[in-house]
Amino acid sequence: MTEQLRCPSCQRKLFEIQFNGLVDMSIKCPKCRNVIHLHLDSKKGVRISEVVGKGVSKRG
Ligand SMILES: [Zn+2]
Repeated sequence: MTEQLRCPSCQRKLFEIQFNGLVDMSIKCPKCRNVIHLHLDSKKGVRISEVVGKGVSKRG
C-alpha cells in the first residue's frame, strides 16, 4: 500500500512510502525539525505518526 506521510505537527508533506508489512522508523521534519516516529502496519491497517522529539534531541 502507498501512504502519503505528513508531519503531524506542521502538516508538511514529508514523503510517499510504499510498503508491505511493518514500518517502524523515525525521521526529522525539514520544516519544523520535530522528530516524527512512524509506525505503519499494512496488515493491521495501523498508521501512527507522532512527534517524539524536538530539534536536535535524540531518543533511543
Ligand atoms: Zn513538521
